[in-house]
Amino acid sequence: MKLSEINIEPYDTLLLDRDGTINVHLVGDYVKHWEEFEFIPGVLEAMPKIAQHFKHIFIVTNQRGVGKAIMTEADLTDIHRHMVEEIGKVGGRIDGVYYCTSLTDEDMRRKPGRGMWDEIQRDYPDVKAERTLMVGDGDVDREFARNCGIAFCRVDSLKKKDGRYEWIKSKDMDVIVLAGGLGTRLRSVVSEVPKCMAPVNGKPFLYYLLTVLSQYRIQKVVLSVGYKRECIIDWVQEHGGEFPFEIDFAVEETPLGTGGGIRFAMEKCTSDAVCIMNGDTFFDVDLEQLKEAHKHSGRLLTMAVKHLKDFDRYGTVSFDKSGTVTGFNEKRYCEDGFINGGVYMVSDRNLLKAMPEKFSFETEFLQPKAASGLVFGFVSDGYFIDIGIPEDYAKANEDFKDFEVWTKRK
Ligand SMILES: [Mg+2]
Repeated sequence: MKLSEINIEPYDTLLLDRDGTINVHLVGDYVKHWEEFEFIPGVLEAMPKIAQHFKHIFIVTNQRGVGKAIMTEADLTDIHRHMVEEIGKVGGRIDGVYYCTSLTDEDMRRKPGRGMWDEIQRDYPDVKAERTLMVGDGDVDREFARNCGIAFCRVDSLKKKDGRYEWIKSKDMDVIVLAGGLGTRLRSVVSEVPKCMAPVNGKPFLYYLLTVLSQYRIQKVVLSVGYKRECIIDWVQEHGGEFPFEIDFAVEETPLGTGGGIRFAMEKCTSDAVCIMNGDTFFDVDLEQLKEAHKHSGRLLTMAVKHLKDFDRYGTVSFDKSGTVTGFNEKRYCEDGFINGGVYMVSDRNLLKAMPEKFSFETEFLQPKAASGLVFGFVSDGYFIDIGIPEDYAKANEDFKDFEVWTKRK
């Protein structure tokens, strides 16, 4: 996401990271004087709109180069004076630049510590956490926002290394995996564990899901867990670091129903786009395409559907020519039809806020919304398997034998 594309509407105070957000990030180096400072394309163009909307705009930046004596504080303030001036020339505005030159990560002023935020609140008593948005390109900015209790949006970053420029696209999607389902129908083949932990060729099914998710620009995966969750949590503690996204848990102490579980897990999400999927089915949908299709559909929710022939295990989905889902049909033998693959995309993480704490996602949300024409169907011919029954569980063991080759090919 570019600076010009962020949703600024709910906020009146903006905190901006500097390197990689405003100016080109020099990898392994510091911007030591103004001549080395280069605005990221599009940033200056976005500034007038930002200036019009926000009451307060601050830069919040770590500048360890001063602490390392690579540059002086005077060099740094000179860079900032020029930067503010240039932004002013195009009709933008920066109300203050907060920087931390400290070397030590223990310094509370250094991001992700909240020291600079505390100073801003002291200097501007009308600044409120719930009306403040932090925009940055790094994990440190996200951590900082979390420590301050403010919203965060990650932007695409432009980096320069050995004279070459590289755009780093921001991770802009969170994924909820419904991992609470118990493998009761699998009891004959696996001991009673959540289905996502059923071993497939020596690895839990969840491993395959997370590996495929690693191909996308995902910020965070929230595992919705409940009964028998310990084995999932233990496994993630040991292996979570192998995946390029944060893994968090939404722990249901009492069963909330499918909808309540999603609603609860959404509270852990921070991105606008949220993908929801079952932890016991594997549907290899291209999530980037799904997100794009959802964006263009303008609907509340987009569901990925799969074309199947000759089946009786699933209900079918009907949709019209435009792709709008028109209804759901009960499970019965079907010669040719589309099934709900259990992968959904939404672009508003507050979508379920108005729903009760406990509800069924399918009957109390999806069906009524579809009846109002608010659900879009995205057809994907990606590989699909539901390990909920022993035959398909056995098939997964067979199919996933060459999984590593299969994912590398992408
Ligand atoms: Mg940065």
